Amino acid sequence: MEFGWTEQQVAYRNEVRQALADLLPADWYETYVPESYASDLQVDFSRDFCAGLAARGLLVPHWPVQYGGNGSDDWLHFILGEEMKAAGEPRGPQYMNINWIGPTLMRFGSEAQRGQHLAGIASGKVIWCQGFSEPNAGTDLAALRTKAERQGDHYIINGSKIWTSYARKADWCFLLARTGTERKDISVFLIPMATPGVSVTSFPGLIKDGHLNEVFFTDVTIPATARVGKEGQGWEIITYALSYERVGVPRYHTGLKALELAIARLKAEGRYADPIIRARAGVIAAKFEAARVLTYLVVDQRVKKLPATTDANLARVCALDAVNELMDFLTEFVPDSLRGGATLLEDYYRINIPAGITGGTNEIQLDLIARNGLGLPTR
Ligand SMILES: Cc1cc2nc3c(=O)[nH]c(=O)nc-3n(C[C@H](O)[C@H](O)[C@H](O)COP(=O)(O)OP(=O)(O)OC[C@H]3O[C@@H](n4cnc5c(N)ncnc54)[C@H](O)[C@@H]3O)c2cc1C
Repeated sequence: MEFGWTEQQVAYRNEVRQALADLLPADWYETYVPESYASDLQVDFSRDFCAGLAARGLLVPHWPVQYGGNGSDDWLHFILGEEMKAAGEPRGPQYMNINWIGPTLMRFGSEAQRGQHLAGIASGKVIWCQGFSEPNAGTDLAALRTKAERQGDHYIINGSKIWTSYARKADWCFLLARTGTERKDISVFLIPMATPGVSVTSFPGLIKDGHLNEVFFTDVTIPATARVGKEGQGWEIITYALSYERVGVPRYHTGLKALELAIARLKAEGRYADPIIRARAGVIAAKFEAARVLTYLVVDQRVKKLPATTDANLARVCALDAVNELMDFLTEFVPDSLRGGATLLEDYYRINIPAGITGGTNEIQLDLIARNGLGLPTR
């Protein structure tokens, strides 16, 4: 593995940084970032920001030319994601559209669906939400109960989803619903959130606003043409879609930044000479660096078109381990910065409370490593 960046990659990173410098408002870090990337403020802003990226060819560069991209490789796509995450993810929810909803429609969508949605996503103006989880179907997604019943050339949808981030602001929902009696009789539907019978209720939690929503579907009538692929093909479609998410969020960037802030504070208070604190900080920094290298390894495997391995799961577990250790460090040594103010440390803490849950829980990652990576026996 080559650890250096090529000239093209360095130039690309600089181009992305320049775009961030040009497109982010002057009070981005003070006003917007503490609100979280799922807040109404940031989601609204993402429409302008993503349109600005699109105008520079930096929104969907990894898409094929025919859909508005320029077919750039996985490394450039990854560098783009790294810089966005480091800046507090100003694309808001649109990382989903461009990373996996668009590519999934390219593969499974009808010509009409591709024509209707891909240009909208590539323009940066359309917000989607992901309607998968239900009150008793999270890890065990196949237990979902939201039902889509075929009636002539329509489906009638009834049920509810939970934890649907961005739902309050979304234009469209990428919905999973049951279309048969077998466990995996599940189909994918593209639903305008403004359809009569769709309603959203938010609920409070420790994490910042915008993530915690329930979406209710009451006799929602949609044309059969809103289904993606064949009836019952949902499992295959979703497996494909999620494979685009597997490298996950580059958490090491924001983690190292938060650690730096905490260290600066400890230094200012004359407490950083304490060998215990220094040792703990050193271990956290080393763990984030290990997560970074493991993540790069996974991107390298993708670029070389090697088969997927459990290294992606390992990278996520490693990053989460560092995040958890950092959260303990903050609680123990700089607890004041976690209360009563919109400091970046408090923001980091709140945003990372569910880090071991979203996108596949940590236990499930460990299970996959045990079974598929280490070949340990299963029950
Ligand atoms: C902030 C946030 C945002 C989210 N955004 C969205 C969204 O936009 N759209 C969406 O559809 N969903 C979203 N989710 C839901 C998320 O995908 C689920 O919370 C996650 O899949 C876990 O499901 P669950 O909450 O039902 O927990 P459960 O599946 O009930 O798990 C509870 C615990 O049991 C463990 N567990 C469960 N099964 C096993 C097993 N077989 N082996 C070992 N351990 C197991 C889990 O690891 C976990 O620790 C979001 C969640 C959060 C917290």
